[in-house]
Amino acid sequence: MPSPELEIQNLKVSFSTPKGKLTAVNGISFHINSGETLALVGESGCGKTVSALSILRLLPEPPAEIISGKILFAGQDLLSLSSKQFQDLRGNAISMIFQDPMTSLNPVLTVGEQIIETLLRHTNMNRQEARKKSAELLSRVELPAPKEKLTHYPHQLSGGMRQRVMIAMALACKPRVLIADEPTTALDVLIQSQILDLLHSLKKETGMSILFITHDLGVVAEIAQRVIVMYAGEIIESGPAQALLQKPYHPYTKGLIASIPKLGARDQPGSRLEEISGNVPSLDQRPSGCPFHPRCPSVMDQCKSQAPELSQVEPERYTSCHLEPESL
Ligand code: SF4
Repeated sequence: MPSPELEIQNLKVSFSTPKGKLTAVNGISFHINSGETLALVGESGCGKTVSALSILRLLPEPPAEIISGKILFAGQDLLSLSSKQFQDLRGNAISMIFQDPMTSLNPVLTVGEQIIETLLRHTNMNRQEARKKSAELLSRVELPAPKEKLTHYPHQLSGGMRQRVMIAMALACKPRVLIADEPTTALDVLIQSQILDLLHSLKKETGMSILFITHDLGVVAEIAQRVIVMYAGEIIESGPAQALLQKPYHPYTKGLIASIPKLGARDQPGSRLEEISGNVPSLDQRPSGCPFHPRCPSVMDQCKSQAPELSQVEPERYTSCHLEPESL
């Protein structure tokens, strides 16, 4: 049995708002095995990013509050660490990359200064060693002319190059877990595919685990071994990536898969993407019963008042829906 590198138990996160305390993540539990890529999937507003930011304690508290739960890493509950202990860990054993590197890179410092700073903070290297290592890291993320790029400012690089710099910074201290929050969403399809290939080969080379957050189930097959689908702050389906993509159980997962563009389909006359009707509910308008019921094509009366539980439907497959597994 693979061992969990990171384990989230019953995590519940709320936000204080003028409308009262609203739940954004409602008691989710999952784990990431050592060397595994786990995809956390759902539309915007489903609670994926809040979950990830909670792991790294990057949510502003207040208004955010972690109501309950444990985040276990290397035998420690991260929620019980002091701020100082946690700062040593963040960017070191657990790193994160974001959709828009411009929000994480400092625009007034060169790329080199920023990577060197990360290395000086988390390792025993001197400045000269850190500079040499920074060029190696840029070369490792396949940035052309890495030594020269050290002297560039973020705005002098393309979006794909900036994302490579972010990955180099995240890898600087050899993290055991990399959290990647929509890292390819802002990039065009070709660059997106190159970044996915890069993450995949770096994972193989370093043995790190990746929590890959995306709204796009289309990229999951390329990168993840397992998938968790979230809706309205809850896990509504999980399972091995190939099995889940070939045979989704939950109507929401089916809708997400139906909205993936098929290769060449857009060019065929009459072909169009199927979209899930309606929107993800806002935090203050969470529907009663199954939170997906206002959008669900298979809704039944009981769905409107009774919330389904996440339960096992076959080995390694879980879903939360009132429909019998054979009719899912
Ligand atoms: Fe649809 Fe009902 Fe299943 Fe929810 S519980 S996904 S509303 S069938």
